[in-house]
Amino acid sequence: MEKINTLKMKGVTRRFGNTTALHDFHLEMSGGQFVTLLGPSGCGKSTALNCLAGLLDLSDGEILLNDRPIQDVAAEKRGFGMVFQNYALFPHLSVERNVGYGLELRRVPKAEREKRVRSALELVHLAEFGKRYPGQLSGGQQQRLAIARTVVLEPALLLLDEPLSNLDANLRNEMRIELKRIHSELNLTTVYVTHDQSEAMSLSDIVVVMRNGHIEQIGSPQEIYNQPKSPFVAHFMGYINRLPATILGKENGYWLIETANGTQLLGSSTNEETNWQPGQKVVALIRPDETIAEPQAETNRLIGHVQLVEYVGRAYESLVLLTGQGGTQLLAHSGRRQNSGDQIEISIDPDRLLLFSADETENI
Ligand code: ATP
Repeated sequence: MEKINTLKMKGVTRRFGNTTALHDFHLEMSGGQFVTLLGPSGCGKSTALNCLAGLLDLSDGEILLNDRPIQDVAAEKRGFGMVFQNYALFPHLSVERNVGYGLELRRVPKAEREKRVRSALELVHLAEFGKRYPGQLSGGQQQRLAIARTVVLEPALLLLDEPLSNLDANLRNEMRIELKRIHSELNLTTVYVTHDQSEAMSLSDIVVVMRNGHIEQIGSPQEIYNQPKSPFVAHFMGYINRLPATILGKENGYWLIETANGTQLLGSSTNEETNWQPGQKVVALIRPDETIAEPQAETNRLIGHVQLVEYVGRAYESLVLLTGQGGTQLLAHSGRRQNSGDQIEISIDPDRLLLFSADETENI
């Protein structure tokens, strides 16, 4: 199997009739990386994955494996392995035979086959389950079997399409750790599809945030989380509090903004080229867990009244109606339970109060 040094998708476009599912998609990865395609339903994640796998033809563009075009190479000749959301296991074959089936087709001699099946089952911690049938395994075990069945073929690239979406919350967390372990043990170049931002954050070297068949942003999990370049990415990463404001100018390296009731706050732009003039309408996007009720800090404060309180584990999340801000409500976190009707102050770190032009934030 050809080892991956580099894998590139260049200008890949895929149309279905009048729908462009993937538009001018560019992605470069190097051997051993874990790349995640992240975005809401219908944004083109599976289309991108299927184009890579060779299950879909491209309408335009090319795919280069070690700088050699492979878009016309048949799926089974690419040497890639895919794990599907529904696992696609053979119910009438034992666990061992499920794993060994691909090796049988490739006429791998029995002794070597048995050795590779054993080590694949050990890798996914299913060594004791070889004689069972898929129907006798839990959801998480079936998932691991699907992975074993794919990695036993030693693919150059592992493609995973929402592999954890059929599992309950606890199992998802466990399997996430398992996936991370398997990836680091095999150092296997992986492309993973999910709409779950926390999965993308915890697993990936590179996250590709997609929207309507386009790439919105590519970066490390830290970059995507801390420096979302567009309101769409920010909102998708949990910056769901919105506060309209007007630019007054710059102060100490931050933007100085004025909210509806005249309160002045400092905020940041994730785009270094931003050159707003005083009077520019902006919207601040902030994560609830960075909107702090009962703040210690003296700066960047807003006043409001608590309307609803929810316990979210580790903290209370309050819905706060800001005073004199035209009905704007924010979700804020605090360690202590607030009561409905309480007046509270909230504070936001200027580095975590992200500003975008108001017109950019209309369609998120
Ligand atoms: P999900 O998370 O729901 O699986 P996705 O991000 O993987 O979504 P895709 O399945 O790639 O999205 O679909 C992207 C767009 O292309 C959607 O608008 C979808 O309806 C359309 N599409 C995908 N496959 C086909 C097809 N075979 N025929 C027609 N349209 C398709």
